[in-house]
Order: sequence, then structure tokens, then C-alpha cells
Amino acid sequence: MEDFQSLGLSKKLLLAVEQEGYTTPTPVQAQAIPPLLEGRDVLGVAQTGTGKTAAFALPVLQIISRSKPQSKRHIRALVLSPTRELAAQIDERFSAYSGHLDIRHKVIFGGVKQNPQVRALQKGIDVLVATPGRLLDLIGQGYIDLGRVEFFVLDEADQMLDMGFIRDIKKVLKLLPRQRQNLLFSATMPKSIAELAASFLHNAVKVDVSPEEITVERIAQKIMFVRKADKRRLIVKIIKQERVNKGIVFTRTKHGANRLVKQLDQSGINAAAIHGNKSQGARTKALANFKTGHTSILVATDIASRGIDVNDITHVFNYDLPNEPESYVHRIGRTARAGKSGIAYGFCDDSESGYLVGIQQLIGFDIDVDESHEFHFVGAIPKPGQIPGKIKTGKSGNKPNRPNRNNNKNRSKQRQNKPKSPSQSQGNNNSNRQRPPRRRRERNRSQGNQNQ
Ligand code: AMP
Repeated sequence: MEDFQSLGLSKKLLLAVEQEGYTTPTPVQAQAIPPLLEGRDVLGVAQTGTGKTAAFALPVLQIISRSKPQSKRHIRALVLSPTRELAAQIDERFSAYSGHLDIRHKVIFGGVKQNPQVRALQKGIDVLVATPGRLLDLIGQGYIDLGRVEFFVLDEADQMLDMGFIRDIKKVLKLLPRQRQNLLFSATMPKSIAELAASFLHNAVKVDVSPEEITVERIAQKIMFVRKADKRRLIVKIIKQERVNKGIVFTRTKHGANRLVKQLDQSGINAAAIHGNKSQGARTKALANFKTGHTSILVATDIASRGIDVNDITHVFNYDLPNEPESYVHRIGRTARAGKSGIAYGFCDDSESGYLVGIQQLIGFDIDVDESHEFHFVGAIPKPGQIPGKIKTGKSGNKPNRPNRNNNKNRSKQRQNKPKSPSQSQGNNNSNRQRPPRRRRERNRSQGNQNQ
């Protein structure tokens, strides 16, 4: 088995890695670090949890510490990340790995005041980690010059495209010098990403850490068929029975996340929600409390959860099954990180059985069914030959837009009783719902991308 010494890393980086407690490189590190150190471009298919941050951060640090700029420090490496959480965590990893080097790095993202970011930029930095909106904003104001970037990293490229960042990425690419090294990481490789990669990577080495491997290896997975109306009682039961003190619960909507937090709270379970309607401060606080163990359950939507880097999550609950099968793989990858094991429960109600079919097709096997609970509901089991993703409207709940009796204050437009169209209806599981129309996605993006 390979060790870090054999990858060609400098002594100072080896020391940092050792201090982090890493003994063996993960597959993505073993495959990506040597070509990156040789100056090659890399195209990586890997998701959060595989150790991909170190796979690029270590070579970036090594390459830029080989030479010192003659004049004032300038941005030599740029890392673009889709979400604030992920950007902050990448920057935190740069802190961990650069402890023995004379490297300055900084993270910038929207939703917070720009002044401290501007001050750090004015002092001079070597590595900039950024979300696209704030980056372009500060470039527009003249605080950032990308003209001497030597290393460009585009992280979570599929997520970037899903969030409507393609035009921003293209704008950034135009501002980078021609002569530079590039790296693109994406959890999936649809045609759009392959095209984007081809547009700026040169003769790239392809590194593939397939999600299937990750899902089957260490994560125990269970499906529980249950009526929508019983999900809450089922989750409370499991959390209490299994004494979960580090679990993450995925809901489809921000509103669903808030509601579940309240309900868990009423059952004496300490939970917090993390999604884009929360302020950056609230998100950071929720994550910090979760990391330290003050909060045992984090309830999250998909995008907000990207990049949540907590190593000892023991349980992942798919409270709502995702309508995109790939999201299932991302979600369950929150557990069993860095060599640990974990369990992922999926709650499938009768409107979600088609989603389950799609997920099982993607991962290539049928997930074990757990019937040993009092809420087992045969009506939610997929029918023979059921088409993936097809929504079966059932009797057990999922009535569109039922007002929530527990939350009188917050009756927003979204939850009016009469949906006008599937895409407007909260609680209607139309499979297009997670992907708003292009114009809306772009508006979300320009508003600082705080919608998930
Ligand atoms: P990432 O996929 O970059 O988000 O990393 C996931 C987690 O794995 C982070 O908490 C890292 O600190 C940890 N990690 C990264 N590389 C290794 C390694 N070689 N051995 C053990 N843990 C690692």
C-alpha cells in the first residue's frame, strides 16, 4: 500500500499530514498528487469525503512554496467552490496543511461583510478560496487581480453548474493567465462537465473514485417503508433507540428542515437546521455546535450540506428520499468518512418508491429493507417494473400544500392550498422541482446564492 512519502511531498507537508493523523493516502490522493506535482492538469471524479481537498491542497502548497514572489504577495492559486460551507472548509484544510510553510490563504464568500475580506486581500495572499459571486464582485470593485494565478482549482463542478454558475466560471476563466495548471473535481461526469473540462484542461490525467465504491464499502444501508405521516415518529424512535449523538437528516425543503427541527425538539432531541435561509452566522454556529457535540442532529437540505466535513457522523437519515439518485450517494457519503463506518437509513413513503428504484439502479443493488418497525407500510414498496423517478400519488400523506398546524407564523406563499402548477407546489414531488428555471437560478446566484 502506498504511503505519503512515496507521493513526492516535501518534508514540511509530510509533517503536516502526520500531525493531521493521516497514515495512508486515500485513493484520490494517491492518484492525483503525483501528476499534480509533475505539473499536469487533473480531471477528478470524486465527491466530498474521499479526501479530495488534500489531493489538491497539498500539491498546490508544495508547488507555490517552491518559489517566492519577488515583489508583494499576489494570488498564485485560486480555488472556486460552489457553497460557503465548502469554501470555508477548504480554507480550513489549507490552514491545517500549511502550518509549516510561509503561505497566506484566505476564503471569501457572500452573505457576510466584505471589509475584512478586502483588508486581507490588500495585505497580500498566496491562495484564494472563493465562491463565484463574491469573487466577481470584488474583482469588479478592483480588489482582486487574477492575472498571476499559477494554479486554478474548480471544485464540485457539477454542483456549480446545477447552481447556475456556468457564466461566472467562464468569466473567471477569461481573467486567468494562459499559462497555468488546472484541476477540476466533480462528483459526477455528465456531458456538460466533460465539455467544461475540455474547454480549459490540457492533456489532463483522469482520476476516478467512483461513488459506487464508496456506497458499498463501509456504509450499511437500510430502507424503511413508511407512511409520510409516520416518518416523524419513526425517526424519533430510531434516534432514541440507537442513542444517535452525531446524525444528519436530509429533508427535501428548507421548510421541511425547520419543521422537523421543531418536532424533534418537542420530542426532547437536540437538533438544528442548516440551509440557505439561515444567516451565515447561524449556519456556522449550527455546524460548530454539531461538531462539538452540543447538537446531536443536524437537519439539512442537499446543497447546504455539501462540504459538511464532520468525521464521526454515525447516522445519515434520508427523511425524504432525494429525487436525484446522485444526491443519495452524496448524502450517505456524509457518514463512513475517513475510514470510519456508518449507517444510512432511507425512509420511503408511497410517493417516493420511484425515487428508490432510481437510486437502486444507480448504485447497482437493492438496499436491504428493514421491516422490523411498527410503521412498516407495504403500500410504499415499489411495484414490479416500476419506472425510476415516477411519482405514485398515494393516500398515506403527501397531500400537496397542507398548511402546517404547528407553524402559524410562517405561512408563506409557497404553502398556499391550491397549487397552480407542479413547479409551484410545495409538497408535490414533481421531479423537476429541485431545478428551478434557468432565469430563477441565475437570479438566485446573483443574490449571493443563499437559497439552499
Ligand atoms: P474531503 O473529501 O477532502 O472533504 O476529506 C474528508 C475528510 O477526510 C476530512 O476530514 C479530511 O481531514 C480527512 N482525510 C483526508 N485525507 C485523509 C487521509 N489520508 N487519511 C485520513 N483522513 C483523511
